[in-house]
Amino acid sequence: MNACRVALVNLPQAVPELMYTEKVRRAYTDVAQILPNLSLAYLAGALEREGFDVNYIEAFALKMSPRDIAEELVRFRPAAVCYNLITESFLDVLPSIAAVRERYPLPVIVGGMHMGIYPRETLSHSCIDYGIVGEGWESLPALLRALEEGSGDLEHVNGLIHRRNGAVRETPRRDRGTSLEEVPFPARHLLPNHAYRCVMSKRRPITVMISSYGCPFKCAYCDVGSITYQMRSAGHVIDEIEECYRRHGIREIWFQDETFTLSPDRVFAICDAIRTRGIDVLWSVRTRADLVNPEMLKAMHQAGCFKIHMGVESGDAEVLRMLSRSIPLERIRAAFAWAREAGISTLAFFMIGNPGEDRVSLERTIRFAKSLSCDFIQVNKLTPCPPSRLYSQVMEETGRDFWAEYTRGRRESIAEMGNYFSVFPADELDRWQKRFFKSFYCRPSYVARRLLSVRSWHEFQMLAKAAGSIW
Ligand code: SF4
Repeated sequence: MNACRVALVNLPQAVPELMYTEKVRRAYTDVAQILPNLSLAYLAGALEREGFDVNYIEAFALKMSPRDIAEELVRFRPAAVCYNLITESFLDVLPSIAAVRERYPLPVIVGGMHMGIYPRETLSHSCIDYGIVGEGWESLPALLRALEEGSGDLEHVNGLIHRRNGAVRETPRRDRGTSLEEVPFPARHLLPNHAYRCVMSKRRPITVMISSYGCPFKCAYCDVGSITYQMRSAGHVIDEIEECYRRHGIREIWFQDETFTLSPDRVFAICDAIRTRGIDVLWSVRTRADLVNPEMLKAMHQAGCFKIHMGVESGDAEVLRMLSRSIPLERIRAAFAWAREAGISTLAFFMIGNPGEDRVSLERTIRFAKSLSCDFIQVNKLTPCPPSRLYSQVMEETGRDFWAEYTRGRRESIAEMGNYFSVFPADELDRWQKRFFKSFYCRPSYVARRLLSVRSWHEFQMLAKAAGSIW
């Protein structure tokens, strides 16, 4: 008997409108980064282990139109097609899902954190047949088998939402709390690894990885703190790094954990193993400024870490307090200085439109950014999203769930929510964002340092494109 076929489609991921100006949003998707969808790659691995024949369709990196995707589906003839959803870009990907389905009607299954928040709103769109809430490792194979058998009995599938006889039905969610060490590594043999890129990468092929999931902290604006934190062992992580290097020819890895350096012992163990196993990869991580120290950063650099991303958010202690992010400014300053001393380049994330922020605190934040030993900054506008604490406050104070309205199809709801916590009107906040970027990147000393650091024509082109997006 032939294995049941299933297609997983990675659609182009739009950048939320409220966070950036249109020009920056375009640059982000055209230039900044096109990387694999790790959730789908993990699912692909889990499905293959269960005996399914999986086609990971990389519509984002390969710039495939709905017509291209439908043609690939006609060729592969899967039993169903699956997508991973993010709340902030749901309405941007929905037309593609509908267009593919119109050309080649197949059961459409969706999953992702979004489904845990807005399952019924998502199912209100007729182009989506099934939603999986929670862990897809077991629910998706169970659903696919039930569809293949045509039994119609879906009650045993965990966390399923679907339509039946005109009514929406849900089965109970019974997550086992599966550890990332119980599922296979992401199925990178199905991905077009050479097609991925990132404006700040140094080598290709590049891939993404997570060594821990969720976050133990609870910053008021963040939705990740709601996910139960789990950390993979150093041995499990290093085995995946080695597989990337030897089997897939990967030469750069971007760890997408929120706090890669939470356990210093694990960081040292990973660094030791990279060196002793002779793995020649460059890598970058994200973490918090209060979770690094000089010895750790030195060891990371010696093991190939060339870039570290740290959230700063504001240079005003009172604003940080209101964001429940009480890392002392001096600790932040020290962390960036240590990274530079260790030879690791840095990117600082800032956020504007925060509660308690005014003209004075914004000026203070811009000054603080320029005073850091930092190579790049990213400035986002605060966009309250579920299930963060700030978004709960928005709902409580307005009596509206803007993202639920958006998910049902009302795009203007997000504009109506606007930059809710900002004292500035939308156009003024846009001007602050632009000013922030310019005052950091247009300093003659900064421009000279950047140009001197360019090592290749490719690097120069990427930097020039990124710079063009600021003006
Ligand atoms: S902002 Fe970062 S540190 Fe804070 S809860 Fe989110 S992921 Fe964790």
